Amino acid sequence: MKKLLTLVAFILLLAGTGCSARTDRAEKKDSRPVVAVSFNAMKEFTAAVGGEYINIVSLVPEGAEPHGFQPTPEQMKKIHHARVLVVHGLGMEPWTGNVAQAADNPDLIVVEASRGIDAIPLEEEGNEQRAYDPHAWLSLKCARQEVEHIASALEQADPAHKEIYRRNAEAYKGELEKLRQEYEEKISRLPHKEFVAGHAAFAYLCRDFGLHMNSIESVFAEGEPSARQLTRLLDYCKAHHIRTIFTESGVSPKTSLTLAREIGAQTVPVYTMETSENGKSYLERMRSNLEKIYQHLQ
Ligand SMILES: [Zn+2]
Repeated sequence: MKKLLTLVAFILLLAGTGCSARTDRAEKKDSRPVVAVSFNAMKEFTAAVGGEYINIVSLVPEGAEPHGFQPTPEQMKKIHHARVLVVHGLGMEPWTGNVAQAADNPDLIVVEASRGIDAIPLEEEGNEQRAYDPHAWLSLKCARQEVEHIASALEQADPAHKEIYRRNAEAYKGELEKLRQEYEEKISRLPHKEFVAGHAAFAYLCRDFGLHMNSIESVFAEGEPSARQLTRLLDYCKAHHIRTIFTESGVSPKTSLTLAREIGAQTVPVYTMETSENGKSYLERMRSNLEKIYQHLQ
């Protein structure tokens, strides 16, 4: 009987705490500014600065391809209720042109995280929105600038917690820089600097670390490469004795595997932070990428 009473008390206790935790969250949610973010890397940076003081709403669904994403009416409703919208820019979210108006939210603060970054121009001509390689968030140097822009916007949107956002941003920028310095030193000692990937997402990362990037698919992750492009890449891999093709989930692993087989290389998956991957943070994934690059270019 005593056991039963203890059990009942325990269940009541659980129910009680569950209940109050829910109410706490609901109350907090009501007063915190809603910050809409486009894709995963933007969510990571925004969460690092805003922590528990903001209510983050993601627009690109988990697992979805952010290149070419268009918000649905349901997602526009989320933007309508947001105080801040964090997008990356450089052609990742071409729909943001008149988003405040389209979402009927004239006070919306729109942050283009990559603003003012030393962007890498693309050789493909024509489309103005595709003048630059968008993947700047994969550079630890650019990431620091992006975090800074997001912090400024949160400070403006919610001045009551200004000091906290500032402190979080400085701490996070410090961690990004520490990681960069650690691998700058390691990668600079590598004898091989040729980096071959499935999707051309790593030009900024390669620039940071003095690596030379070649890839199977274009920066916008679309279409199969032509036979001629593939032959050229094959020749490059043979000439540079490439032993590793870096791949990532979602982008034509078949072509990567074929190429790897052809040259007797192995495929090694790396993270692009375009969607959530294995539930890992940006810093964890970036460290994993750099360590794999370091190990496989030995
Ligand atoms: Zn991409």
